[in-house]
Order: sequence, then C-alpha cells, then structure tokens
Amino acid sequence: MTRRFDVVVVGGGIVGIATAWQLTRMRPGITIAVLEAADRLAAHQTGNNSGVIHSGLYYRPGSYKAQNCVAGRAMLYDYCERKGIPVDRCGKIVVAVDESEVPRLDALFQRGLDNGLIGLRKLSGNEIVEYEPAVRGIKAIHVPETGIVNYIAVTESLARDIANAGGRIQLNTSFLRLVRRNGCIYLETTQGEIEAGQLVNCGGLQSDRIARLCGVYPDLMIIPFRGEYYTLKPESNGLVRNLIYPVPDPQFPFLGVHFTRMIDGSREAGPNAVLSFKREGYKRTDFSLNDVMNYLSCRSFWTMSMRHWRMGMGEFYRSFFKYAFVRALQRLVPEIRQDDVVPGGAGVRAQALEHDGFLVDDFRIVRTADMVHVLNAPSPAATACLSIGRTIGGIVLGS
Ligand SMILES: Cc1cc2nc3c(=O)[nH]c(=O)nc-3n(C[C@H](O)[C@H](O)[C@H](O)COP(=O)(O)OP(=O)(O)OC[C@H]3O[C@@H](n4cnc5c(N)ncnc54)[C@H](O)[C@@H]3O)c2cc1C
Repeated sequence: MTRRFDVVVVGGGIVGIATAWQLTRMRPGITIAVLEAADRLAAHQTGNNSGVIHSGLYYRPGSYKAQNCVAGRAMLYDYCERKGIPVDRCGKIVVAVDESEVPRLDALFQRGLDNGLIGLRKLSGNEIVEYEPAVRGIKAIHVPETGIVNYIAVTESLARDIANAGGRIQLNTSFLRLVRRNGCIYLETTQGEIEAGQLVNCGGLQSDRIARLCGVYPDLMIIPFRGEYYTLKPESNGLVRNLIYPVPDPQFPFLGVHFTRMIDGSREAGPNAVLSFKREGYKRTDFSLNDVMNYLSCRSFWTMSMRHWRMGMGEFYRSFFKYAFVRALQRLVPEIRQDDVVPGGAGVRAQALEHDGFLVDDFRIVRTADMVHVLNAPSPAATACLSIGRTIGGIVLGS
C-alpha cells in the first residue's frame, strides 16, 4: 500500500532535516517524511564541513545568505545550548597580510556592520598577536560572534526531535522519480512508492538532477568543488588558537584556505576549492564519466573556466603538492612547516552555476505548485539551517 505524507523532504543533510524540524513546529500534526539515500544522516556536505558557525560578515546585505546566516546563527547557538550540544563562541580573525588587501578588509568590516554584527573590532599588527601569537599581518578584523560546532551532532539531534514529533526519517531510500496520477504526486523510491502532498528537494549535490526528475528544469547546474584539508599534528596545535582567515577574493565564492579549531580540539587547515571529477568525489582519483560529461558539455562551464582558469590551475597545483598548500598557509602563519601537518579529510561543495557562466552567489529556492526545490545552499547554509528551514517551511505552508 502506498503511504501518504503531507510533505516529503528528499535529502537528510542539515537543510532537509532543519526544514522538516521547522515544519513539525510550524504546523503541529503535519505528517512528514525525510528520505535519505545514504545509510546515515549528514553523509555529504553537512558531515564533511569545517564546523564553523559563521557570523554573517561576508554576505550582501539583504540577501538570503545575510538574513538567514545572522538569524540562523542566533537560533543555532540557542538550540545547541538548550540541547547540550558542545558549541564554542570562540570568535575569529580575518587578516590582511599586505597593503593591497586593506581596502577589501575595510569593506568587509563595513559589510559586517551593515549586516548588524556586534562587537566587530579592527586590529593593528601588534594587536593581532594578542589573539593569535603565530599570525603575522598588518591589519585584521576580530569577529566575536563566530563559533564552532559539530554539524553531525546538530543534524542528529534535530532528527530525534522530528521522530519525537511523529515524523519519519527513512535512511537507505533514494528518490528515483516523480509520477503524477489523478492530480496527486507520487515519489518512486528504492523502498517503494510514497504519496506526497508536497515535495521539498534538499538533495545538495544532486539537487539539480532531482529537480529535473520532477519535471522542473532550472537554468543552472551543480558543479562539485572539493575542499581538501590538512590536519595539524597535536604537537603543532599551539600555532592556532581559534579561527584564522585570509581576506577573501571577491571574484570567488569561497573563503580561501584558513585555520580552524574544531570542537574536538583538533586544528584543520583548508579547505581549498578544486574542481571535482565526481559529485561525491572525496578523493583526487574519484571519477564519474557521467558527472564530468555533464559539465564539460555545458557552455556555461567553459565560460566560467575561461574566467577563473588561473585560480583553478592554482587550486589543482596546491592540491597535488603539499609544499604549495603549506606555502599558502604560511601567508598567515609564517612559521608553519610541511612537518606540522598531515593530510586530513575532504568535503565536496554543491555550487550552482548559472547559464551565463557565473557561480550563483545567493541561496536559490524555486517554488512550483506542489514542490519546493533548494538548488543552491552552499556555505553558510549549515550555520543558517534553522532560519532557512523556517523560510522553506513558510514557502511550503504558503505563509
Ligand atoms: C568543505 C566544506 C566546508 C564547509 N564549511 C562550512 C562551515 O564551516 N559552516 C557552514 O555554515 N557551512 C559550511 N559548508 C557548507 C555546508 O556544509 C552546506 O551548505 C550544508 O551542509 C548543505 O546542506 P544540505 O542539506 O543542503 O546538503 P547535504 O548535506 O549534502 O545533504 C544532501 C543530502 O541529500 C541526499 N540525497 C541526494 N540525492 C538523493 C536522492 N536521490 N534521494 C534521497 N536522498 C538524496 C544526500 O545523500 C545528502 O545526504 C561547508 C561545505 C563544505 C563542502
């Protein structure tokens, strides 16, 4: 017998789970299911990210990213504190290492003020070492509202709340296609058919394909960018107290390799941003002909490549040669050596590319009569999850 739910969410990453969580609160009694293809929640972007609770410093005021990051950060701190999930509002610094970066650092400071950040402070070169003794820079911003958390723990806790509210979380269940019969929508999955009042697509790296399987043809495609990390050896942890970031390149949506103290006390350096040859390609050797042909056959991919080829080649070079990666780290922490770090994990970002060859900057949510498709939810979507979940929930409920 076909089961029926008011809402079925495809994707058990933090965005799908937070959306289901918000729906159970916004409409008590709603019947809801989350389908996750993997054998666990948070198996992809969510479970392989940097674990940073972003402040909202970087995003265009008024954008979905800015609004949801600032609101979501506060909601996330509150949720973690209530649930006893370890979280640390440790703050971070963004460091200019030469004069050419100072105007961009100043613009970032202003943007932070425009986004309503509290406690932002400009630091001189001498003040930087009070926060991070191993960092050398000429100017910096201290951002006290930034923090760290384990996003797998957050996702699992939200999922427990959903189950307690009567929602269903179904692992090992891949969405295959959508069928319409008598005005109703049916989801064919690897575990049988499910009827849904509405479908919410939070499929991350597969979200554009899921949309097409539903008969929605967005003017964008997902390009996978792998982010590789090195881990500091425990005896070198003293080089990094908290979070140390460079001034980002405004041409590119990624923040540049940085240092992160993880909530378990370890220190990571990275991630870079390397074009991946497979959507879920965590290793350099992972390759999917289908995934590669997908983007090679798109004019927008070539337009983007022409624009960013120099940056792209640099990322490949740093990916293959440890000394080059470490040299990038030495811009911030000059005394770090190749011996201080060992290869760490990797995550793959789902970054949407517009038909005109520009990377989509903001979150992208597309509404149809009985579906909502989340087609671009890169960083800071983990930070923003409870706010994006509320936004998507509002769209689903028509409020
Ligand atoms: C390297 C890296 C570092 C990052 N650092 C940060 C950070 O520090 N702070 C921050 O806020 N954000 C960070 N981000 C971004 C953040 O992790 C993502 O924005 C967020 O996790 C996106 O969540 P999601 O649920 O949309 O996607 P995902 O976590 O990828 O979840 C999508 C889910 O959909 C499932 N799925 C796909 N296809 C199907 C199907 N057909 N049927 C059923 N299920 C399916 C997948 O298995 C997956 O579990 C980082 C991302 C990366 C990659």
